[in-house]
Amino acid sequence: MRALEYSEARKFNIVEKALPKIREHDVLIKVKASGVCGTDLHIHDGEFGDQFPLVPGHETVGVVAAFGNEVQGFTVGDRVVADNSELCGHCYYCRQGKELFCDNFIAHGVMIDGGFAEYATYPGNRVFKFKNLSDVDATLLEPAACAAHGLDKIAPQMGSRVLLFGAGPTGLMLAQLLRQNGACHMVIAAPGGWKMDLAKSLDAADEYVEFPREAQAAAVRMEMLRADNPYGFDIVVEATGGAKMLENAIHFVTKGGKLVVYGVYGDKDHVSLSPNMIFKEEINVLGSFSQTYKFPAAINYLDGKRIRVDGIVNKTFKLEEWQACLDAMRNKSVVKAAIVFN
Ligand SMILES: [Zn+2]
Ligand SMILES: [Zn+2]
Repeated sequence: MRALEYSEARKFNIVEKALPKIREHDVLIKVKASGVCGTDLHIHDGEFGDQFPLVPGHETVGVVAAFGNEVQGFTVGDRVVADNSELCGHCYYCRQGKELFCDNFIAHGVMIDGGFAEYATYPGNRVFKFKNLSDVDATLLEPAACAAHGLDKIAPQMGSRVLLFGAGPTGLMLAQLLRQNGACHMVIAAPGGWKMDLAKSLDAADEYVEFPREAQAAAVRMEMLRADNPYGFDIVVEATGGAKMLENAIHFVTKGGKLVVYGVYGDKDHVSLSPNMIFKEEINVLGSFSQTYKFPAAINYLDGKRIRVDGIVNKTFKLEEWQACLDAMRNKSVVKAAIVFN
């Protein structure tokens, strides 16, 4: 099979490889589409503790091509999506049902081979069937599962007023999930431009606040937003990954409200927050990272058209076009890309 393989950081080739070995509990997937996200840029640069050689790709969609003896419930040809995580089941955290923190967590496409190849294997209990989504849109099930985990962590009360900073793919799915699960007024605040246009086309919010790109003008708009909402919001989600934005965001949380740390931040980032404010105003600061067991929920929402994703993946590439895909991701000319196979 053909695969995109990194021999070391920044060094990749399209190689001919043997089909991956199918363990007794594995499903072999003939890959149709593989989502590309920011993580893949970090892998490219070798910033993810990567184990080379590596076939990246952690948002894998395809059809069942074969499976091991222990696998049940699949037929060759089933359309499926794979959860890229493998959990050990016996470490300190797994034994408490906190598998997200598994000490021996293995991620396909990050630590072992993933879906930037014509075929990939995953344990049968991490493979899920879907019906209606296109192969390309189905690559969003992985980030949607992360958003569903975020919803669990936030646990919004009905009637909540929510402010979300950022209009990226996961944020747009989280906004829709929140609106269907307790948020009665959703405000998305982000720079004006095509991500914000996409948010509007998906009907992801009740109100859209566009920040000008220029810093001074953006600060003025931020002040206006605060003046318009003197009591703040029950839930404020920082989904831009900007540390400064997080420092700003806490000032929009109502007393007793929740501040959700939901971006991918730099390892060296630090923020300055007032402990007295968190103490006296009883602000709950919470994080949400990755997911476990949320693929069924993500499939129900996306495959059931309860959450709209049309247009989020706005460019596809062939395996041979990986460099062009990297460039498009870097210069932000795509919202979300996918590698597609025949
Ligand atoms: Zn990803
Ligand atoms: Zn474990």
